[in-house]
Amino acid sequence: MLKIDNLHVRAGERDILKGLSLTVKPGEVHAIMGPNGAGKSTLGNVLAGRDGYDITEGTVSFDGKDLLTQEPEERAADGVFLAFQYPVEIPGVNNTYFLRSALNAQRKARGEAELDSVQFLKLVREKIKVLHLPDTLLNRGVNEGFSGGEKKRNEIFQLAVLEPKLAILDETDSGLDIDALKAVADGVNALRSPDRAFLVITHYQRLLDYIKPDVVHVLADGRIVESGGPELALKLEEHGYAWVQDRIAPEA
Ligand code: ADP
Ligand code: MG
Ligand code: MG
Repeated sequence: MLKIDNLHVRAGERDILKGLSLTVKPGEVHAIMGPNGAGKSTLGNVLAGRDGYDITEGTVSFDGKDLLTQEPEERAADGVFLAFQYPVEIPGVNNTYFLRSALNAQRKARGEAELDSVQFLKLVREKIKVLHLPDTLLNRGVNEGFSGGEKKRNEIFQLAVLEPKLAILDETDSGLDIDALKAVADGVNALRSPDRAFLVITHYQRLLDYIKPDVVHVLADGRIVESGGPELALKLEEHGYAWVQDRIAPEA
């Protein structure tokens, strides 16, 4: 589904990703862990097509298409979803309205019929029920005054409605409380399916107490320096990231 090969990315004057390769199959959950500044968020941003990055080398294919030549909107319509590490607040814009616009933009790009408000509300009610989300989420402004936990629930709600093939969750490096963590984990677990893959980017091991990833990767200094099963996350918890320094190739 996703094949990243020897990806090199620059931002500003800095090389951030330095030859990153990664293959993700449908249905798999991959955790990307790594120290601060390793390039984790850069990876998510580049896959989603955010501005501000130069791809200097390497390829990324998604469902057999060259992802890097596509606009962010095309990627979204093809099923790539990136949850914001720090979700934007859009006061005064109704959450349901916002989400229907986003979904309909994607449906239109795929040549599918747009949903009217009645059809959309039906869809939303189903998702809310499956995810055990409070329906107070629906009528508020987008993330307006949301607590950390509510923002995370809203992110999962967006994911459930947009039904991406590849969901990229970039978890903030600091201070997600246990509620927020569980909201993310419950959502991921409820939305796992044989045709959907997840890239869960996280600094901390504890999220992986609740989400069992198929593969754990350690990203350090712009490369994947180790990959393994869930036990790799436990090793990181025990030993921290200090050992990772030994894996970083000296600058040429
Ligand atoms: P992580 O998410 O793993 O903490 P990031 O991908 O956010 O790491 O950043 C990797 C490194 O690249 C950091 O040192 C960061 O300061 C730097 N960086 C990120 N974006 C830019 C940018 N637009 N311009 C210059 N440096 C950047
Ligand atoms: Mg960071
Ligand atoms: Mg980050």
